[in-house]
Parts: sequence; C-alpha cells; structure tokens
Amino acid sequence: MDVLHILKIRTSPRQRSDFISWFPEKSGIFSVKSAYKLATCDHDTTFSGGASSAAANGSRSLWNCVWQSSVPQKMKITACKIVSGVLPTQQCKVLRHISTSSTCQLCGLEEEGTYHALIACIHAREVWLNMRTRWPLPPDDLLVDNGREWLMHLLYRCSDDVRDMIIMLVWRIWQLRNDQTHGKEIPPVSSTVEFLDSYYKSIKLAGRYSVDEILKGKMPSSATQIVLPRREAPSLPWSAPSPGYAALSVDGSFQESDSSAAAGMVLRDHEGQIIFAAYRVLFYCNDALEAEIHALMQGMALAIQHTDLPVVVQSDSSEALASLSSNALTRSAYGHLVREIKELMSNREFVPQKIYRTQNRVADRLANYSRSERTTAVWLRSVPPCIEDLWPLDCNTMTS
Ligand SMILES: [Zn+2]
Repeated sequence: MDVLHILKIRTSPRQRSDFISWFPEKSGIFSVKSAYKLATCDHDTTFSGGASSAAANGSRSLWNCVWQSSVPQKMKITACKIVSGVLPTQQCKVLRHISTSSTCQLCGLEEEGTYHALIACIHAREVWLNMRTRWPLPPDDLLVDNGREWLMHLLYRCSDDVRDMIIMLVWRIWQLRNDQTHGKEIPPVSSTVEFLDSYYKSIKLAGRYSVDEILKGKMPSSATQIVLPRREAPSLPWSAPSPGYAALSVDGSFQESDSSAAAGMVLRDHEGQIIFAAYRVLFYCNDALEAEIHALMQGMALAIQHTDLPVVVQSDSSEALASLSSNALTRSAYGHLVREIKELMSNREFVPQKIYRTQNRVADRLANYSRSERTTAVWLRSVPPCIEDLWPLDCNTMTS
C-alpha cells in the first residue's frame, strides 16, 4: 500500500535538494507528541465514524483550511476540486478518458497535474513571482509536490491571511490557464497582481459589507473613504532576485519640451552586485512609453551578452512590461521594438516584474543622467559615478 502511495508522489521539476518534512507539525519537524496526537485522532475518527481528513492537533480539520477561509465560495470550490483531484487538468482528463495526452497545453514540457498547472508551469510561476512583490506568499521550498493533497498541506502551514491569498491565487491562475487554453488573450501579469490585490482588500472588508456590494461599489461613499484611503505607494526596498537569477532594472527618461530621451539599465545578481550598468541616449523617440520599451529592449539585449542566468525584468511601467507577456503592442507604433523583445525572449528566460518607482531609482537615475548629459556608456562589473551614492542603498535595504 505504502509503495503505491510513494510512487504517486511526483518530484519537483526544479532541482531542489531533498529535505525531511513531517506534515502534521507546522514546523515540519517530527515529534513523538504530534505522532501520538495523529494516531489518537485517526483512532477517534475511525471509531466515531467521522470521515474528514483531520489535522494532528484535532482542532483544525484540514478541510476547514478551505471552508473557513474568507474567500468567495467559487474560490473555495476550486480549492476543493484541486485537493479532491477533480480539477480538469490534462492528467485528470486522461484518467477520465476525455483526452489522450496529459501534456501541459501551455508549455508542452511536462504532464499537467494540479501542481504543474498551478505552481510549476512557467505561466503559473510568473504569477507567483510577481504576486510575491505584493503578498507575503510562502517561499519556493514550501511549495512542494507531495501528492494529491499538496495544496492542503501548504495551506495548513500558513497563517489565515496567507491561506486566503493562496486560494485566491490558485483560483486566478486556473482561470488564466483556462482562458489561455481556449485561445483567449490574457491580460499582462501586472494586471493580475492589481486585480488580486484589490480583490483581496475588498474581501477583507466583507465583514462589514458583502463582497458583491463592495465590488459593485454599493457601500456608502463615506465608508469607501474610510476603508479605501488613497495611499502613496509604499516605500519598498529594491526587490533582489532569487539566487540563480539576475535582475534587470530598466527605466526610460523622456522630456516633452525637447523630445530628448534616454534609457537606463542595470543588471544585478541576487546580492545586488552590479553585472553591468548602462545608459544610452535615444534619438527619434516619440513619448515616454517608447523610452520605457526601448530601455527594456536594450537592457535585455545586453543581459543576454553579459550573463547566462535567467533574468527577472523589472520596470515601473506596466504598459511597457506588457510587451513581454502579451501581443497587445505588437501592432502599435512600438511594434518594431516589441518584436525585437519577443525575439530576445526566445533566447533566454525573461520574467517580467512590475516594481514601484521608488524601487527603481537606480535605473531612473541612469536614464535621467544620460538624457541630461547626452551621454551613452556601458559599465561592466563597476559602478558609474552617477549612481555611486544610490546603488549601495539598494543593497542595504535588500530583503533576504
Ligand atoms: Zn505547463
């Protein structure tokens, strides 16, 4: 019996080192006490005729992780389908003889089970990665494929708030997956981040108003002002990439009065060390968005030359970043730049990440310096004087 269960565990597609984990403890560490509780709980469940999957401490049924969350019912249902193995992934469809191929239709790289579709597939990863800039989601090492109930195990280890976030996130990823497999154009990942974050905030108000009321804006306007204050973007530190990735931060600078424009690009490793810093004057630039997209394209081309790592592409312009993840701009006036970007993307893994302006001050300074001084340069593994004071601040405030 155990052999069958062990064989069902799918290994992670990413090369992680193994670790020991004891699921009934939040710490993941085995204790006799938790084993005793699990055993007595199993005994109680068996002899009381209960059928629910229960946690070690007996106080929090695993299913309650889902049912007691404060997300809308439709999201809970998706979570339950995931855990029950009835979410119609390709793997599930093959089991039900609805399809003959279990390969993921989006990436074509692996079998599509729930873990692949919601965590491991490149499209899902992009959403997770970007959502981490906004939500305190668990790190990659907790996203473990340990059998059909992987989601339940993950939720059980999280705080109530994070649990709600994860249920919302996998619900949305599944929606996007369905849209994509049905040939629909999907929005850029930055829109997904905004959508989920505002949805989450509105759900947190649901104790006072129904979610529908909030989404339709039907609550009293005074309440809107109290509960939805307009805030300045929080002053966040620069977002360092995970080890094994490099981060390319880019910014464009454009001045309407004389149409002068420039691009600033900086590629850094996970410790914030500079791989290159570059700025370039742009001739014949029409507007700020063009400068932003130009900066992306120039930065990506330089990144391919100067690192072998996959690259997280950071910009504070969601419109410009959309050129990486959608085809919306290919027929625009910026089409030539966007097509160049798509071409560059076929050579390397580039993951778009929307950051705040305050997180992008190094690239911003490079671009402004270049535009005002009309100068172009590339600095390899060294720091241009114009950012000497600024660059160390990013390293200091880095979250590890
Ligand atoms: Zn896939």
